[in-house]
Amino acid sequence: MSSQPPPVQTASDAPASAALLARASEVIPGGVNSPVRAFRAVGGTPRFMASGSGPWLTDADGKRYVDLICSWGPMILGHAHPDVLAAVTEAAAKGFSFGTPSENEVRLAEEIVARVEPVEQVRLVNSGTEATMSAIRLARGFTGRDVVVKFAGCYHGHVDALLASAGSGVATFALPDSAGVPRSSAGETIVLPYNDLPALEAAFAERGHEIAAVITEAAAGNMGVVPPAPGFTEGLLRITKAHGALLVSDEVMTGFRCSPSGFYGLEGPYAAGAPDLFTFGKVMGGGFPTAAFGGRADVMALLAPQGPVYQAGTLSGNPVASAAGLATLQGCTPAVYERLDVVSHAIADAVAAELSAASVPHTIQWAGSMFSVFFRDGAVSSYDDAKDQDTSAFRRFFHSMLSQGVHLPPSAFESWFVSASHDDEAVDHVIAALPAAARAAATPD
Ligand SMILES: *Cc1c(COP(=O)(O)O)cnc(C)c1O
Repeated sequence: MSSQPPPVQTASDAPASAALLARASEVIPGGVNSPVRAFRAVGGTPRFMASGSGPWLTDADGKRYVDLICSWGPMILGHAHPDVLAAVTEAAAKGFSFGTPSENEVRLAEEIVARVEPVEQVRLVNSGTEATMSAIRLARGFTGRDVVVKFAGCYHGHVDALLASAGSGVATFALPDSAGVPRSSAGETIVLPYNDLPALEAAFAERGHEIAAVITEAAAGNMGVVPPAPGFTEGLLRITKAHGALLVSDEVMTGFRCSPSGFYGLEGPYAAGAPDLFTFGKVMGGGFPTAAFGGRADVMALLAPQGPVYQAGTLSGNPVASAAGLATLQGCTPAVYERLDVVSHAIADAVAAELSAASVPHTIQWAGSMFSVFFRDGAVSSYDDAKDQDTSAFRRFFHSMLSQGVHLPPSAFESWFVSASHDDEAVDHVIAALPAAARAAATPD
């Protein structure tokens, strides 16, 4: 990874954001509530957003950006979509949280179960992290085993046991691990290379009787987009089932984005059966903090209050968040998925053309309409491949796009996200910014 210093940016590039960052840094570590927002990988001043509408964000200085983060996936319909806003307003007017069951959470659960065929029951939680943490606990409770297998470069939230060799912000910072994770907790995690079935066979041959679950991103999106190689998911199913371990398919990012039923809808059903548990988040909350894990009814039956695996949440199934998620999922019509395809391909094709014209090495990879641009030649099938790219070229590209009013994810290890509200004006704005950004990427500073 590059150790070049970030470009010098003055506060005058974004004076209101710079002032907010200074204030924030007094009371919030690093000035942010989630590390990747801090621009550490690209340098400069993170933009504090004041509002969003459709495909546009407006920062505290009043500057507008076409948004290619979409809140890291949830805003699939665009910002402040009228139907979602109406659902949220209606729900909020009836009260914010009851601490009792209510109908909206039932409707959201029904919608998820109806969409993803192997998911018979879900439990709603408040973040993707909670979903994977709970799925792992449940898998351990079900199998009576402790060891979990994950793949390098896959990110499953900031769960202790899953923070070994994770992607996303951890990839950005090139931390092998996190301080504060007990050795015992990491010691029950086996990290293997993604897309490497022989490595998984070997791990099961040695410790199969101890392995509770294999967790994988349905298609990796947190080291950049790295889809499973043909046969990889089938192999995961075959091996886990042969050894009595569960397969947890983490669809927090891909769920309801790659297709109406997530990446499963693109790749499944599988000859070797179905993943036992799934995790969801991002799109299913429509921008609100709600997420879920679910799967086989006989496994889910082990959860409290029915079974011995404890899991709970004061705000879980929140009626306002559930209304936002339901309205978002209901808004995800076939026309929405068609538009995501059109927009993502228009942008990716133009990126490829301009980077080629500027002789910048690049590879674009896909999972549904999720794509990412690796600043390197050649396909990426593992975390080692993903790390082998020119992050300083990305940094220059990113800042050129930002100064021209296009907000990319501030790291070379992320998917780019579009929404169905990205109209031709927004797409044209992105495309118009690309030639200068490609030239910047080609020009070492
Ligand atoms: C975002 C993400 C998570 C964590 O979700 P949070 O809501 O940020 O806790 C887990 N798994 C995957 C695949 C993700 O992309």
